[in-house]
Amino acid sequence: MNPPNKSGWKPAMNATDQDGMHIGPATVSGNRALMLEEPLSFEIGHAEITGVDLPEIDPAAANRLGGLERSDPIGLVGLSEPETVRHYTRLSRQNYAIDLGLFPLGSCTMKHNPRLNEKVARMPGFADVHPLQPVDTVRGALEVINELAHWLIDLTGMHGVAMSPKAGAHGELCGMLCIRAALEARGDARKVVLCPESAHGTNPATAAFAGYETEDIPAGADGRVDLEALKARLGPDVAAVMITNPNTCGLFERDMKAISDAVHEAGGFVYCDGANFNAIVGKVRPGDLGVDAMHINLHKTFSTPHGGGGPGSGPVVLSEALSPYGPLPYTARTKDGVVHLIEEESAESFSEEHFGGVMDSFGRMTAFHGQMGMFTRALTYMLSHGADGLRQVAEDAVLNANYILRSLEDLLHAPYADSGPCMHEALFGDKDFGGDLSTLDLAKGMIDEGYHPMTVFFPLVVHGAMLVEPTETESKAALDQFIASFRSVAERANAGDESLKQAPYYAPRRRLDETQAARKPVLAWNDPNLT
Ligand SMILES: *Cc1c(COP(=O)(O)O)cnc(C)c1O
Repeated sequence: MNPPNKSGWKPAMNATDQDGMHIGPATVSGNRALMLEEPLSFEIGHAEITGVDLPEIDPAAANRLGGLERSDPIGLVGLSEPETVRHYTRLSRQNYAIDLGLFPLGSCTMKHNPRLNEKVARMPGFADVHPLQPVDTVRGALEVINELAHWLIDLTGMHGVAMSPKAGAHGELCGMLCIRAALEARGDARKVVLCPESAHGTNPATAAFAGYETEDIPAGADGRVDLEALKARLGPDVAAVMITNPNTCGLFERDMKAISDAVHEAGGFVYCDGANFNAIVGKVRPGDLGVDAMHINLHKTFSTPHGGGGPGSGPVVLSEALSPYGPLPYTARTKDGVVHLIEEESAESFSEEHFGGVMDSFGRMTAFHGQMGMFTRALTYMLSHGADGLRQVAEDAVLNANYILRSLEDLLHAPYADSGPCMHEALFGDKDFGGDLSTLDLAKGMIDEGYHPMTVFFPLVVHGAMLVEPTETESKAALDQFIASFRSVAERANAGDESLKQAPYYAPRRRLDETQAARKPVLAWNDPNLT
């Protein structure tokens, strides 16, 4: 029998929803067929229940704690094994996931995670390695990291790569710390980093965290960086520019080489936010565009799970000018053409004659080598596609996004539809909506259609932005179904259909108060019997 409900928990869903709309007979459980409610484990569990049997404590072992052993139970609740399995399975069913349907979050690149990657990552030789094992026993793991580093250096045309950063934003920090170290090494106290207004919030945040002031780079009417305005702002106080390419409006920055040349001439460095590398992998090498540092989100471009599915991984590729300042461990191709793993013990042997300079690392980003599980998955993805396959990934991602852009531009404001084909994501705005409806209402309507909404209100340069990224892993049939739903909700929005204001109608919870959720999140459970 289930333990009694301690907190008097009541199902929030009823047969009558919050607007009094009658949707069926009441159920005692609060469940609606397969839509199951789930209380917190604290509400259904008990301290005296456990799913495991532990042996009585051996008094000799207790003595080893020197009298510090706990004397009272700490009151954590327990569940039996089947209850535990059901609890987490029910919670997992309340999530949207890439394995459930198309996940159109622009900039986030929610692509299918190939099962082959998972199979390889679970092989005991990869899954069971420990970073503190003797080096001689992890040669294979180091070889995997080196091989992946090789691919990243080749695909980007850069000098070397720091594999250790744990996500895109961590990679940005790594790149900016390299730039700061390079400037400090030449005694140059530049203070300003320039970022376009359309930049991801992590770019200015990273620059500020690394000790810089940030200023906006203006964009032209076509959604790209205004080269002349940028040139006019460059000067001896500008340490770096941070540019996303393809940018967050889904457009390729065609002037990238001219931008890099101008920044270098003014003595600064070019940081490229490489989160959108999936649109150009195999087609363009950032090294050829004059980029000095760029992070690559393995969890976006190279298909490793994220968004609740797994940790990120954000290797940073560096130019020859920045390589000497890279964090350890660091991997670079030296002048003999060989890719070397550089660690504390070997750093001193990398000098000017076979490296970009004398290795003068700014330090470490992490204790160990990085996200081994993601390295294994990303390398599996690369090897299973090959260089030609990766180029096709980029082409198909761009094709799919343009299909969406051209299928909706007659209905929705598409601010840069005339700036040429988009890259891997299509950008719309809510300018043509009727009544007081906004992008938020359309997004909630998409939930009723069974889709996770697209990225909304980003980038900031477009009113009520909707950024849609289908990725290359969606079939034409899946895109057509998505477009049909999107068109029907957009038609309602344009017509000022007030019913959209109450959406979602069919989700387990109706519309939440987003301000309260952000400002006053409830992060702790308080036992109502104690208060
Ligand atoms: C995702 C993303 C980032 C941050 O990457 P994380 O891996 O989430 O830290 C930075 N810039 C852009 C454009 C992104 O899409």
